[in-house]
Amino acid sequence: MPPVFRFAPSPNGYLHLGHALSALLNDDLARKASGRLLLRIEDIDTARCRPEFEAAIYQDLGWLGIAWEQPVRRQSEHLARYRQAIEKLSAEGLVYPSFESRAEIARLLAQQDANSRWPCDPDGVPLYPGAAKSLPSGERTRLLESGAPYALRLDMAAACARAGDLGWIEDGEGPDGETGAVTARPQAWGDVILARKETPTSYHLAVVVDDALQGVTDVVRGRDLFWSTSVHRLLQRLLDLPQPAYRHHRLILDGAGGKLSKSTAATGLRELRAAGATPTGIRRLVGLA
Ligand code: GLU
Repeated sequence: MPPVFRFAPSPNGYLHLGHALSALLNDDLARKASGRLLLRIEDIDTARCRPEFEAAIYQDLGWLGIAWEQPVRRQSEHLARYRQAIEKLSAEGLVYPSFESRAEIARLLAQQDANSRWPCDPDGVPLYPGAAKSLPSGERTRLLESGAPYALRLDMAAACARAGDLGWIEDGEGPDGETGAVTARPQAWGDVILARKETPTSYHLAVVVDDALQGVTDVVRGRDLFWSTSVHRLLQRLLDLPQPAYRHHRLILDGAGGKLSKSTAATGLRELRAAGATPTGIRRLVGLA
């Protein structure tokens, strides 16, 4: 069976040089291995994703000379699949609803920080400080029936106890040079959100379900997602899904050493194209000879 690679952008902005590196690497590796390259549009965040960004993704990737298979998978069209996965985890008692608003979470964090420094996840976001896991079941039912908004969280302690030790083989490199056999540390993320009342999935859940459904064998993506792999390995184990190979690549940083967030004249592919850049020039700019 040929290896299956995928490039999985979110259409919440225009592609920049960091996306070009990721897409070109996936394309190069797929060609070298006589493998397949899939394109997946990760558009579950309906508030930020827009059709014009999706159209621009096809245009920019086509211009770069990348050849992906049809049909393209759009996550927004597969919500029922993600719901099934959530239901499986719920049936195993690994998921609970939490009802705090953003403001309430901020207030809880302020209280915690007054006592000691509250831990943050690998992205620097404070872990969930609430106590919804131990809400009496009558109160939980009352809140659910009242129609209150909620987030479904993974009970990380229970999930880790169920899954046992986890790791993956890193073919690239993590932020601190991690490579080869890496121990997964999903606990570092706390009780992550897997879905919300309005959206029956999250990045972590959708990526894991889709990689399995699409038969992805090789995940090649930016180093900013390195530690997310801990959560992905955990969900793969809990949902009985196969483990792909992982290769996290270096990031393209802006002039100040920060992560590229949105397309600018200096880094946006459409802007560079309009200014006369060529696909070969883009390859050179991202350090692929
Ligand atoms: N959609 C994610 C992003 O644009 C990438 C997901 C992945 O490659 O796992 O950052």
